[in-house]
Amino acid sequence: MSIASYLSKDIETSVEFETFRDAFREKLHKAFAMRGDFDEISTQRGLPPFMMREIQSVTPLSVFIPEEYGGRGGHVHECQAILAAASYESLALSLTLGINGALFLQPLTKYGSESIKGPIFDRFLEEKNLGGLMITEPDYGTDALSMQTSYTEEDDAYHLEGTKHWAGLTGWADFFLVAARRQGADGALGRDIDFFVADMNRPEQMIEVEEFYENLGLYMIPYGRNHVDIRVPTAHRLQPESTGIKMMLDILHRSRIEFPGMGMGFLKRILDEALEHCRERFVGGKPLIEYDQVRQRIAKLQAAYTACSAMCLHTSEHAHTDNNLAGEALSANAVKTVVTDLMQDAAQSLLQLTGGTGYRLDHVAGRSVVDSRPFQIFEGSNDVLYQQISESVLKSMRSLEEKNLYAFLSDYEMTHRAADYFEDTLDFEVDLSLPQRKLVELGRILGRVISMELTIELGDRGFRSDLISNCLQVFRKEVDGRVTAYRDHEPTEVVEDYVEGSAWLDYVNA
Ligand SMILES: Cc1cc2nc3c(=O)[nH]c(=O)nc-3n(C[C@H](O)[C@H](O)[C@H](O)COP(=O)(O)OP(=O)(O)OC[C@H]3O[C@@H](n4cnc5c(N)ncnc54)[C@H](O)[C@@H]3O)c2cc1C
Repeated sequence: MSIASYLSKDIETSVEFETFRDAFREKLHKAFAMRGDFDEISTQRGLPPFMMREIQSVTPLSVFIPEEYGGRGGHVHECQAILAAASYESLALSLTLGINGALFLQPLTKYGSESIKGPIFDRFLEEKNLGGLMITEPDYGTDALSMQTSYTEEDDAYHLEGTKHWAGLTGWADFFLVAARRQGADGALGRDIDFFVADMNRPEQMIEVEEFYENLGLYMIPYGRNHVDIRVPTAHRLQPESTGIKMMLDILHRSRIEFPGMGMGFLKRILDEALEHCRERFVGGKPLIEYDQVRQRIAKLQAAYTACSAMCLHTSEHAHTDNNLAGEALSANAVKTVVTDLMQDAAQSLLQLTGGTGYRLDHVAGRSVVDSRPFQIFEGSNDVLYQQISESVLKSMRSLEEKNLYAFLSDYEMTHRAADYFEDTLDFEVDLSLPQRKLVELGRILGRVISMELTIELGDRGFRSDLISNCLQVFRKEVDGRVTAYRDHEPTEVVEDYVEGSAWLDYVNA
């Protein structure tokens, strides 16, 4: 079959959403089947241009673009549903759309000056341009606020200088938002962060790629190290409502809370693959699905599917660009950490269930393990975000002078109904100055209780009750186990000079 025979006509973006999503799904399905036909192996880096053309012919990014600029209006449920449709076929493709949406188009919609929005949105809609975001630097990742990329104002332009790395779509995107700090006349950098739109099609705004990285997974997306020495017009600076740091928090919290869209299709695919494999694979004369341990694994996958559905519902109703999410750290961090843990755990479980067959880069199980892993690292390392979840809850407890965790959670909007499941387990006083490891463990617990609250809400809306109660049961057991670990007060210490006296061979009685 020729490539041309796969290509079909473009679809208008003005159609009903279901028709739009179905057309997108069909394109994806064809495009990924086509890749299977044309690639020798499905593990090549990048994406063949004919595939991207085919996927872009539906203009999926129009869901992130306001209606007055010719897009579908930026309705969050549409954005979530498009990310989910993409991640059923490919997590990397979904992340590509997520980067464009949450890290470029939504920030531009909300903070871009009017004079640049129209022409840029046009290029996304008509020429199928792509955009990304550069915050991270080689020496400043988690500690992004200390970034060293600087800007100075020159006549009617800003001059940006620095080094950025790990920006998704490095060397591929047509636009990047670049974060930088203002450099004063004395050379010192200001504390605030500003964002600038750089257009890769303009020589003076072009960011030079110094090196492409061999990323472990997400082969479709190029990453690397970039040398920034560009001049952009003054209108290219995003306009914060108050400080630039608050704008950055609004952008990052919105992006984090939108992770469930990417998780949704991915988790559904893992669940479908697990069910199919375990029905078809016979071991010891019966299908795997008849083994108790296997059933437990699949029940957990189903719980992840349900919890992620609950998060998508919550996100759809809370993440619109009209809302300022700078102060919504708790919900955004809880959703991001828990859904990314669910994604990685689900991938690991599918790999266990598929055995040797799954341990291949070109098998969905093996791919999923490496592709989902960095979601626990980027946009806030989960270890750090869990700590922040606890700190935010402890701060509220302190201000209410409440020390009992259950008493607090049973009265707190994001946990009040889920707390009912832990009347005994969480009925203890929390030390308000915990060591970091305890903060992280408590954050894991809180993130899961918040996810249960969202799941209860999903149940109230009419979602299947058997899936809801299974999900709540799985999460309750996990929280119970984690609380036991949390309440164990013996800290293990690192023995840094561990080598002397620790060679096992010296102690063998031969
Ligand atoms: C696949 C992928 C895609 C990415 N996409 C983008 C992108 O599009 N744009 C962009 O700007 N960046 C992107 N990044 C960069 C990403 O955001 C950073 O890697 C991340 O912020 C961590 O920074 P770092 O790598 O410098 O690690 P570090 O800051 O060195 O942190 C490494 C680890 O140290 C531990 N740690 C750090 N601080 C603390 C602390 N305070 N307490 C306890 N433990 C701590 C955590 O375990 C953390 O995971 C991407 C990264 C990857 C891998």
